[in-house]
Amino acid sequence: MDRKGQTTLFRLWTGLNRLKAPLYKTHKICHNNLCSCGEAAETVEHVLQDCQNYRMHRQAVWSSPTDLQTKFWGTIEELEKTNSFIHQRMVTNLSPREGQEADYINIILIL
Ligand SMILES: [Zn+2]
Repeated sequence: MDRKGQTTLFRLWTGLNRLKAPLYKTHKICHNNLCSCGEAAETVEHVLQDCQNYRMHRQAVWSSPTDLQTKFWGTIEELEKTNSFIHQRMVTNLSPREGQEADYINIILIL
């Protein structure tokens, strides 16, 4: 696993990431800790396991339901899948206007 992957896992494990829940709890940077889906706090567990915003991306990486323990502490192959999920890019505007490029964001602004 490369350094970028190791860094990503470290930030997931420690909670030192840019998700809203830890930012709100630790630094009060955000107005709240809610995920953009509006259904739960934006935690690592929510994003990896439940968030509907990332459902398609999650299914592309894990073809069958996978528990958080495996995603966090599984084999190197499982950890590579977790990294793959985190670093996937998703289109934020699915129908860009003519002449406008699609916007992309990393699923989690880890770095
Ligand atoms: Zn969500």
